[in-house]
Amino acid sequence: MTEVVKHMHLQSELLSSIEVGIVVLDRDFCIEVWNQFMENHAEKLSSEVLGKSLFSLFPEIERSWLTRKAQPVFNLNTPVFIIWEQRPYLFKFATSRPITSDAKQMFQNITMFPLTAQTGEVERMCMLVYDVTDQALSKLRVERLNDELKHMSRVDGLTGLFNRRYWQEQFERLFKLSLRRETPSTALMLDIDHFKKINDTYGHQAGDEVIKTLAQVIRKSIRETDLPGRYGGEEFAIVLVDSSAHNAHCVAERIRRLCEAMFIEFEGRQIQFTVSIGLCEFSPKYPSPMAWLEKADQALYRSKNNGRNRTSCAPSTASEVKPI
Ligand code: GH3
Ligand code: MG
Ligand code: MG
Repeated sequence: MTEVVKHMHLQSELLSSIEVGIVVLDRDFCIEVWNQFMENHAEKLSSEVLGKSLFSLFPEIERSWLTRKAQPVFNLNTPVFIIWEQRPYLFKFATSRPITSDAKQMFQNITMFPLTAQTGEVERMCMLVYDVTDQALSKLRVERLNDELKHMSRVDGLTGLFNRRYWQEQFERLFKLSLRRETPSTALMLDIDHFKKINDTYGHQAGDEVIKTLAQVIRKSIRETDLPGRYGGEEFAIVLVDSSAHNAHCVAERIRRLCEAMFIEFEGRQIQFTVSIGLCEFSPKYPSPMAWLEKADQALYRSKNNGRNRTSCAPSTASEVKPI
């Protein structure tokens, strides 16, 4: 008898000191075992929960979802694992981490396994609740860092537009896509007029401000699905996806006019600037992405040669654009 008591004492000691939640549930999800870990984190004593339905005590647990998840445990006598990446937690427990921590709730991995009666029938299941908050937070932190690095490697620091390398990569993808699509896309090259003079007159920082403002104008004038990039110092390349030369010409003119009408405040002075634009609609006759872009660049240089502050179209597409 004393041996049995000693054994039971040992078992209860183990149940209460282990840093894992242990819950035993019958087939109706009524609680039969509730260890110290669960008492501490749920702030519910086992005397308050024993014999009660898990779902009535913890409304955050979706009955239909957990019942479905537990089906293999009861019906097939196999264990089931739920990892935090699938569902961050089953029980909404606060973390013991400082307030500065990213997680308000404890991340949990859950193991559910069958407990069989002497008949071999599964009468109960045991649920183990593991606190994996530290592990989850460090993984999330690494993922966030990776996302930031990816973003930084794609985006130009001054303007927030795509940098040349990433823009070119995406341009090549769009070129291939255009070969298979009916709707045309149009490439634009844009360059600030007499930018050296802006730098010389107002200083390099003022020049940067002009570049930044122009990038905002571009972003506001195009669609989310378009591809804007900073191609060089004060040179931008944009693909207007699903836009004919005619539509692209309207967009380019809107950008050009907005720039022309703009006064940029810098250290008490007002800076004005203009841009020149060249555009070229995609055609399968271009053997490479660069051949397509080259046409837009040539059109840009016609805009420059014809007096700047204007939009020109590549010859093959110019006929499609009504004169303005
Ligand atoms: P054009 O009308 O023919 O384009 O004349 P431009 O003066 O703009 O000529 P160009 O394109 O050759 O000059 C570009 C100048 O832009 C040269 C360079 O000093 C300046 N620049 C390049 N990158 C930056 C930058 O990030 N910030 C600033 N402020 N200036 C830059
Ligand atoms: Mg220039
Ligand atoms: Mg230039």
